[in-house]
Amino acid sequence: MKPVQGKTSTQLRYLASILLWPALFFGGLASTGLAFATSTPVLWFNVVYVSVAAIIAVFERIMPYEPTWLTADGETFNNLGHTLLTKGVVQIAAAFGASFPMLVAVFAQPFFGSQPHIWPQHWSMLSQVVLGLVIAEFGLYSAHRLAHERLELWRFHALHHSVSRLWVLNTGRFHVVDSLLKVMLSQLPLYLLGAPLQVFLWVGATTAFAGLLTHCNVEMRTGPLDWIFSTPRLHRWHHSKVLAEGNSNYGENIVLWDHVFGTYFNPDRPSSTDIGITGKVSRSLLGQLVQPFSRSGVRQILGRKPGVD
Ligand SMILES: [Zn+2]
Ligand SMILES: [Zn+2]
Repeated sequence: MKPVQGKTSTQLRYLASILLWPALFFGGLASTGLAFATSTPVLWFNVVYVSVAAIIAVFERIMPYEPTWLTADGETFNNLGHTLLTKGVVQIAAAFGASFPMLVAVFAQPFFGSQPHIWPQHWSMLSQVVLGLVIAEFGLYSAHRLAHERLELWRFHALHHSVSRLWVLNTGRFHVVDSLLKVMLSQLPLYLLGAPLQVFLWVGATTAFAGLLTHCNVEMRTGPLDWIFSTPRLHRWHHSKVLAEGNSNYGENIVLWDHVFGTYFNPDRPSSTDIGITGKVSRSLLGQLVQPFSRSGVRQILGRKPGVD
């Protein structure tokens, strides 16, 4: 009986590796639709988000892509801290952003004509969200690529790349400054074009689920999905220590702009598990937050001076 059971479990694992990404991504979005239809959409969206994260965490134990990444690295508290801090600050920024269309109306209209709202509101919501994603992704792509190519921005983004293992809790490990730049560049064009609130909510939800999945340590066979979406396979290349591999796949939800600008990278071999940076980041949450602001901190991040803290 044993060999049969072994064969069955191998087949189940294979099937799961194909189905998990679409099931969790589109299942998460479908559940978000139900959440948005309730009287407390934010609460129910958070329930869906935490549930998808919990399911991913379970599958990381059952079928990890890299088993050694299951070992704790002492960064769990910091990962959670950055996640909560970034979410809080971004929420406040979004509240300010809500008044942005009014500012545009007052200051920009005299220069750009009477009607800045050129958003195609008559399109179906699905088409509007896809359009919103393509536009927002251009901002995400630009912010992410600049964060890798400009030293004054890499000092903040290095925190995200400083981990030596990938798992679901790395999703929110971003320096606040890094996150704000991304939010600004991705949402500003949507504000300027007059996109409705629903488009912002759906683009935000898509980014949330895509982010959880790109960082997960689960064996997934995403095949043709790699051509459209930012999958775990593509994002592992992006985290590679080898610069020629890492300076690629900047897309956060879709990889359209990587295709357009020639930064798409997906060779026919298992994606990298040798991830991290050559420099060092501080070990404490507060230290990680202030490090990019001091000269010596930046030298440590860039690996120009040994030791830290
Ligand atoms: Zn990056
Ligand atoms: Zn990442």
